[in-house]
Amino acid sequence: MPLDVAGVIAAGLVGSLFGSFLNVCIVRLPVDQSVVRPRSRCPRCGRPIAWFDNVPVLSWLILRGRCRHCRERISVQYPVIEAAVAGMWAAAVWWHGVSLHGLTAAVFGTILLGIAVTDARHYLIPDEYTWGGLALGLLLALRGGLGGLLTAVIGAGIGFALLYAIAWAGERVFREEAMGGGDIKMMTMVGAFVGWKGVLLTLFGGALLGTLVFIPLTIRKRRLVPFGVFLAAAAGITFVFGEAIFRWYGAFLRV
Ligand SMILES: [Zn+2]
Repeated sequence: MPLDVAGVIAAGLVGSLFGSFLNVCIVRLPVDQSVVRPRSRCPRCGRPIAWFDNVPVLSWLILRGRCRHCRERISVQYPVIEAAVAGMWAAAVWWHGVSLHGLTAAVFGTILLGIAVTDARHYLIPDEYTWGGLALGLLLALRGGLGGLLTAVIGAGIGFALLYAIAWAGERVFREEAMGGGDIKMMTMVGAFVGWKGVLLTLFGGALLGTLVFIPLTIRKRRLVPFGVFLAAAAGITFVFGEAIFRWYGAFLRV
């Protein structure tokens, strides 16, 4: 398939808008505020942010990261998230073209980024990402998607059952909550996008990344590092490289 340059650029622009919306979700969902109303305001002077000051990435650069009116600093997180989501959407169309596969990749990546940032900051994973993401995953699978609806439903079911069992066993063994409900709901959603084999690979990858990063970081910072961040990274890797990893593993077993 020839590279669709116009499609990639368009996907990047659409992605930057979703990145802008994801910023709103990241700030408001953990505190149970509506992501629709009211319009964004400067937290210091309270003035609404005009549309021309809300253009993804560009406005922040032009205003040099400050409010137009009171010069309050605006977090660099806003343009970074916008650029990251724009990049994911462009990459999805670059690899998969303007297709259902490309859309599924872009949507999944956006949700995972929202989960990772929110879990890192607040130690929680809002239902909008997990249950909302599950609904989107099933809807995208309904149209044929990657593996079809049955694959998505089985993946979600295995994701839920497996994490529920781990949480249950963890509570028995450690006598305290080993895994939050957010992780269970998250892996249900992930299963709808990557199927049951992908769920296993995501868990394995999350545990591996977790052990490499989690334990040193936890000891150094003396606080827990949220597991959802590692699960999100592993889920993204599974979505992109899962088939290749399974092929490699299959060949490895036959040797
Ligand atoms: Zn201001």
